[in-house]
Amino acid sequence: MNNIQIAIIGAGPAGLSAALELKKLGYDDLVVFEREDEAGGTPRHCGHLGFGIFEFKRVLSGPDYAKKLAKLAIDNKIDIKLKSTLTKIEKGVLTFSTPEGIKQYRSTCTLLALGARETPRPDRLVSGARSPNVITTGTLQRFTYLQKIKPFDRAVIVGSEIVSFSAIMSAKHAGIKIEAIIEEKDEIDTFCIVKYMVKYLLKIPVFTNTKLKNINGKDKKITSVTISTKESEREIPCDGVIFTGQFIPESSIMQKSFDDFNLSNNSLYISQNFQAKSDGFFVAGNAIRGALAAFKCYFEGKKVAKSIHDFIRFKHEAEFVKIEADENISWYYPSLIDLKSPIKEHLTTLRLKKRARGVIKVLLNERVVYKKNIHAFPFVSVSIPWKHIELKPKDVIRLEFVTLPFCIFYHNILKKYAKLSSFILFLLVSPLVR
Ligand SMILES: Cc1cc2nc3c(=O)[nH]c(=O)nc-3n(C[C@H](O)[C@H](O)[C@H](O)COP(=O)(O)OP(=O)(O)OC[C@H]3O[C@@H](n4cnc5c(N)ncnc54)[C@H](O)[C@@H]3O)c2cc1C
Repeated sequence: MNNIQIAIIGAGPAGLSAALELKKLGYDDLVVFEREDEAGGTPRHCGHLGFGIFEFKRVLSGPDYAKKLAKLAIDNKIDIKLKSTLTKIEKGVLTFSTPEGIKQYRSTCTLLALGARETPRPDRLVSGARSPNVITTGTLQRFTYLQKIKPFDRAVIVGSEIVSFSAIMSAKHAGIKIEAIIEEKDEIDTFCIVKYMVKYLLKIPVFTNTKLKNINGKDKKITSVTISTKESEREIPCDGVIFTGQFIPESSIMQKSFDDFNLSNNSLYISQNFQAKSDGFFVAGNAIRGALAAFKCYFEGKKVAKSIHDFIRFKHEAEFVKIEADENISWYYPSLIDLKSPIKEHLTTLRLKKRARGVIKVLLNERVVYKKNIHAFPFVSVSIPWKHIELKPKDVIRLEFVTLPFCIFYHNILKKYAKLSSFILFLLVSPLVR
């Protein structure tokens, strides 16, 4: 058994920036554990540009960004143990599987910065041929940028979050033709302008209100997919399927190890200081609630370092009030209010599962204490201001979203305007993009 002061699990932007900040605050007894053979996290396999603007004031590709973070950590003499996978947390003991065998550590403080992953095929319950050519964007990027493998020639992308755009770029890089993007919802899951770019500039058909019904093929080879709308079905020839988005925190270990697992967020209940109910455990980055941009996770890493510092140096003892949420909410943070810490200007920040217009309500012990009309998108966060409510330790706060009939009517009109304005914007910017 090794005793350490701070264990950070995950060497992505959140974990490494927390480690760098803690080093600055004077903590040397700190170890970062990473299951991969290189530090840097998810950006390592995102071969496109779009990283580092806010953190390093430069536009970097994912791998360059990851290398920069890893180099900073090495320059600052941060101990990173690679190929070390956290497999168990029990009674404060962290168990790792490493090439040298099982290793155990006991730490005063542990930061879980495990990131998130896209929902793979088994969890999406899609029937049809079993084939290794059914992958997620993350796997496609690993093949394309890290292993330089072209897994298939023609693929269909399932899902239309912004990450599907990343899948298109990776496919283009590998020379894979994208036959179509399909989306179950009635509109794509990101800004409408992206749809027009994909449709008219990249000439990729985008099918909304469309389900992937079956993957057709034989002997592990895919020949086509069957897609269906309410009215009809059709086949698209392809030899690969890329499932994109629906990010969920890498939280199986949290679910197994802690009682205070929050099923709404698929992560632990976390306070405004990123602190979990279990003593000495903190969570930051995408492990809290699915995917945000890398720079947000990087800055969150810095913030959690300050909270860890308060916990160790000032022996901060928290007193929590829980925030629960209904099924319309895809995630919210924080999900605990620590009454012994300053409360931020917002009670919590949330995202809805789908585009909707309605009322978001905050209930304190079943009594409505705040209401707000919102027009929400699943890719835009909504913040609930802190109303200085008197809270006691046993109180329960609940978030509810209600769609009103009038709001549905209003929402449909606004949707048409949003589509029209996005199309005009597309016409204006497309000559520049070309
Ligand atoms: C396809 C794709 C494209 C993206 N494009 C952009 C973009 O253009 N711009 C942008 O800003 N952001 C982008 N992002 C988002 C960005 O990559 C993430 O937000 C960011 O990497 C999250 O940082 P993190 O530290 O929370 O998690 P990660 O970067 O995912 O790091 C988590 C680390 O924890 C490790 N880990 C997990 N479980 C264990 C375990 N049990 N034991 C040990 N180690 C473990 C993982 O191996 C990983 O290295 C993209 C993401 C994806 C998937």
